[in-house]
Amino acid sequence: MVRSAEGDTLGWAAYSPESQIRARMWTFEPDVVVDDAFVAAQVTAAAARRSGLLSGGATDSARLVFSEADGVPGVVADRYGDTIVCQLTTAGADRWREVLADALVALPGVATVYERSDADVREREGLGPRVGLLRGGAPAADLVAHEAGFRYAVDVEGGHKTGFYLDQRDARTAVGMWAPGRRVLNVFSYTGAFTVVAAARGAASLLSIDSSGPALATAARNGGLNDVDMGELREGDAFTALRGLRDRAQQFDLILLDPPKLANSEGQLEKASRAYKDLNLLAVKLLAPGGVLLTWSCSGAMTMELFQKVVAGAALAPRRTVRIVGRLHQPSDHPVPLAFPEAEYLKGLVLVAD
Ligand code: SAH
Repeated sequence: MVRSAEGDTLGWAAYSPESQIRARMWTFEPDVVVDDAFVAAQVTAAAARRSGLLSGGATDSARLVFSEADGVPGVVADRYGDTIVCQLTTAGADRWREVLADALVALPGVATVYERSDADVREREGLGPRVGLLRGGAPAADLVAHEAGFRYAVDVEGGHKTGFYLDQRDARTAVGMWAPGRRVLNVFSYTGAFTVVAAARGAASLLSIDSSGPALATAARNGGLNDVDMGELREGDAFTALRGLRDRAQQFDLILLDPPKLANSEGQLEKASRAYKDLNLLAVKLLAPGGVLLTWSCSGAMTMELFQKVVAGAALAPRRTVRIVGRLHQPSDHPVPLAFPEAEYLKGLVLVAD
């Protein structure tokens, strides 16, 4: 139970002495009992809030449960077809593993619940990694997420996060709008989801860069799954590759820049800002006249306001006039409660250079 300094009851939290965040609120209703039934009901309600997204026919894959944003701190559950991949990142979430697994497998049409609790943040909670099957049969090796007519391979056991970046769903739509006829550079491509869309929408050429060989192997598979030519898939460090392209005066009409989380906390913001600036500076230099840059930050510690300032700084030195023509955000299955603005982490700018 959490009490205010005046002694009023504020609600119930999961207490974790090992964590920097000692108490995570599970309810602000003092009379609510956080028990098996409560936890299961939270999961069922969260899944129900995504039923419109999943029943619309556009996709069979969505984040069903998004931690504090769904009232279950530290619980993430992503659905890909009949398979749910969950990630428990807090001591409070760990405590309810079996209840959560039962609630998830009870959702209509679910055959498998697999746990991928191997994120680094668990260390800060004093928790070791936990990976493996929780309910049902083993995840299919050829599991695919269907979205907007495309098919994306999901590597449940070896991929990043839960296997696929569901949070860039709206961005994939944006990429499709900008791609026709353009020479596309996809930096930090992971499994090439943006490349698939750009290829299908008639990009003139495609170069995807990522430091992960396995991610690029999956990108090649995604080309086959969607019957598109993925162009060049290049393994390497993005910073080095971008400098190489700049030195050879290469030009692109559409650049996608989606780096991994560069700031894990506010303490790392300054260093991260420099890295974001370097990347965006290189990208602006590679833009052909009229070129479009889609650039993101998925660091929660970096606000849209700060990100825009950093990117503005990057466009100064090359003396290009660059205009914001759109902004991108995490999609509807990654909601941001008004009372928990910290849930907002993914933000992007759509920029056009003269
Ligand atoms: N845009 C992708 C997601 C990108 S995630 C999508 O929509 O699916 C970030 C990617 O950056 C990961 O695939 C990771 O392998 C890659 N990465 C991390 N550090 C890198 C570096 N220094 N150079 C190139 N790629 C890097």
